[in-house]
Amino acid sequence: MFTAFLIKYAEIGIKGKNRYLFEDALVKQIKYALKKCEGEFAVRKTDGRIYVDAVSDFDYEETVAGLQKVFGISGICPMVYVEDEGFEKLGSVVVDYIDRVYPDKNKSFKVSARRARKNYPLNSMEINVELGGIILDAYPEMHVDVHQPDILLSIEVRDKIYIYSETIPGPGGMPVGTGGKAMLLLSGGIDSPVAGWMIARRGVKIDAVYFHAPPYTSERAKQKVVDLAGKIAAYTGPVYLHVINFTDIQLYIYDKCPHDELTIIMRRYMMRIAEHIAKQTECLGLITGESIGQVASQTMHSLMATDDVCELPVYRPVIGFDKMDIVAVSEKIDTYETSIQPYEDCCTIFVARHPVTKPNVNIIRKHEHNLDEKIDELVKAALDTDEVIIVK
Ligand code: ATP
Ligand code: MG
Repeated sequence: MFTAFLIKYAEIGIKGKNRYLFEDALVKQIKYALKKCEGEFAVRKTDGRIYVDAVSDFDYEETVAGLQKVFGISGICPMVYVEDEGFEKLGSVVVDYIDRVYPDKNKSFKVSARRARKNYPLNSMEINVELGGIILDAYPEMHVDVHQPDILLSIEVRDKIYIYSETIPGPGGMPVGTGGKAMLLLSGGIDSPVAGWMIARRGVKIDAVYFHAPPYTSERAKQKVVDLAGKIAAYTGPVYLHVINFTDIQLYIYDKCPHDELTIIMRRYMMRIAEHIAKQTECLGLITGESIGQVASQTMHSLMATDDVCELPVYRPVIGFDKMDIVAVSEKIDTYETSIQPYEDCCTIFVARHPVTKPNVNIIRKHEHNLDEKIDELVKAALDTDEVIIVK
């Protein structure tokens, strides 16, 4: 029955002079999301509002699900519209609307009309009163409550007349592309996809890098990361996923450095390589799924030792989250089931039985000199293995 959607956006509203940039970005993202849905749509921006009109048959559920993945949308109001063919016609459409949307009539309501077109014969107040009367005549069980109605029935008089009363929550945040781009270190775990999603929700475009260690990590483990990038891409549009062969670097570190420092040194090389690619691809920061104290390599000391090699800012949006909080987000964004598939990850294969939890940066730097002979060459070789997968 619905033929259009009113798109509500929250934070964009406070952007002052640049507001139109955010609105245009949102319109662009909405169009992109709708391209994946069946049917034809017209997306319009008028008077600080965004409307999606269906101009052909469409799949309601699929369209709502598509819009719920567009960052910047705070609410989606499914609407019915009528051509302005007199008040009687409007009244009968409203009565029919109430019947279809609210099978249970034991409810209070309020009509709230707005006129964008002032030449309509009735003013807003008159529309409220007249339509209220028509509804009460049709459904005597209903009653008016102007303070806390169960149903707030909005009527917007424009070129056509729009009717809506329900708001489906959107994902919030800012339209992707309004906040620059960052490089996500994406593993197959639970945390990093959540971290990427959280930063993307703030309007940041996401590229990703995955460190692959064949034959210690399988093709299936790599596919899992591609699948996770796909889950993020459902919100952000195409993700450029860089797959780097990290095996030789890992083996070399294993060979030359104290085993209790392996993870930290390995993490430092991941960050260095990620940063190198990030700089080449105009990313303004790195993103990881680290959370304080979750594992030995994520204590404050370890994070400091990892940060030591980075020039770009490292964004860690789940830094203060408990695992349970991260899991809750991953379930919401549908990455959880993929993340828990049991494929080996390159960090777990080379972990020491007793990794340092309070690494000293100076000692780590000193032990890294054990790698001087070949590491530059190995890093260069690893960068040469960069396989870019465009995940849609
Ligand atoms: P996750 O659940 O995201 O894998 P984790 O709890 O397993 O995190 P670690 O393995 O210590 O934690 O990794 C910390 C962070 O380093 C990850 O969140 C991710 O951003 C990055 N990372 C770890 N392994 C890889 C990898 N193989 N490729 C790319 N990034 C990685
Ligand atoms: Mg991991």
